[in-house]
Amino acid sequence: MTTRYVAEYLWVGPGDPELVAPGLVDVADGRVAWAGPVGAAPEIAEVIRVGVPGLLMPGFVNTHCHTPMTLLRGAGEGLPVDRWLSEVMWPREGRLSPEDVYWGMTLGAAELLLNGVTTSVEMYFYPDEVATAAGDAGLRCTVTPPVIEDTDLGRFGTVEEQLGVAVDLIRRWEDSDLIDIGLGPHSTYTLSDGVLRDVARVAAAEDLLIHMHVAEQRYENDLCLERSGQSLVTYLESIGMFETHFLAAHGVWLTDEDREHLAQNSVGVAHCPASNGRHASGIAPIVDLRRRGVPVGLGTDGPASNSRLDIFEEMRLAIRMARLRESSADALTPMDALTMATAEGAAALARTDIGSLEPGMWADMINVAVDGPAFTPLLEIEDLITHLVWSASPADIRGVWVGGRRVVDDGRCDSVDVGRAQHEVAVRARRLSEG
Ligand SMILES: [Zn+2]
Repeated sequence: MTTRYVAEYLWVGPGDPELVAPGLVDVADGRVAWAGPVGAAPEIAEVIRVGVPGLLMPGFVNTHCHTPMTLLRGAGEGLPVDRWLSEVMWPREGRLSPEDVYWGMTLGAAELLLNGVTTSVEMYFYPDEVATAAGDAGLRCTVTPPVIEDTDLGRFGTVEEQLGVAVDLIRRWEDSDLIDIGLGPHSTYTLSDGVLRDVARVAAAEDLLIHMHVAEQRYENDLCLERSGQSLVTYLESIGMFETHFLAAHGVWLTDEDREHLAQNSVGVAHCPASNGRHASGIAPIVDLRRRGVPVGLGTDGPASNSRLDIFEEMRLAIRMARLRESSADALTPMDALTMATAEGAAALARTDIGSLEPGMWADMINVAVDGPAFTPLLEIEDLITHLVWSASPADIRGVWVGGRRVVDDGRCDSVDVGRAQHEVAVRARRLSEG
């Protein structure tokens, strides 16, 4: 059976025409069967019609997150990132239980869905619980089991065991439509050369996406130069890290040569402007990266680095930071930011089944109300995109569907008991903070 969503305004994704009014999307078996202007729609005998007031568009793709860190939201405010990690994050994370991660992910998944995020890329401990919570909430997720080498976190197992966990997860989740498994080596500054080579080998053998923090802080490059005599990206390339698809989170401190290597190797970048601002990391050179053909998505980073899981805020910060960095008011447009939040984010993950509402894509859609103050005045249809990016917020999102399943209805997340999740996170966060 096909469900036909008839919307006041439809944005299928970047392309031409950019907006149609009215527009409709036919969904069958969780995927888009047809999308376009109402007048051009095919005749279908059996169809369920759903009226959608406002704007219907693809859901947001969050390309870098550690969502269960809802448990650590607000902790260590104001510390530089090295002290924030070693003094506040790692001691608490050393006390995490699988159930903590399940509930942290559950609450964060509800927030992501309410904020219009339909796909999130996750790197966190107890990845099976991350995947289970995401699946239970109805959130599409690329779960990248972390690889870490730290004596304080030794109870997460040896590197060999961690890589084994990742391979087991691939088998366990292979039938899921929502969950994909990759590999999440933390960074070059927390992993030795031998371990990084093991990661590259396993990823190539299993054809896994590698998701890693790259050049978030200036010192990462200096350390890499000291250790290998090569810049960060050249080093990663030399040890085989780009044999499979690679997603570089942050990418702030990249040399000219590094940027060229990213482009040549079709590496995707997750731009995290809110987190980069909070930790004083720097402003990533995304205008130059995009000019070279590197797909750049937007990432909220974990709620401990950001507090919010809000792609609207990331779109606005991405534009402001790019314009400041380039000293140009057209360095990044609202449509550029919206593209990064949807189709280009999907490209950064090398995914061809999400990010727009073209036929064949998963029906991951959001409905934004356009009758509130944020969308007033609407003098021309193009104002919709300007207002969507510059003035809308999660409060304007009325409906969210993932794979055709409605998970947010009238601004409520129906797939998660949000009150229970808040209670669980509050109690568990207190225990983690007290040690
Ligand atoms: Zn991160």
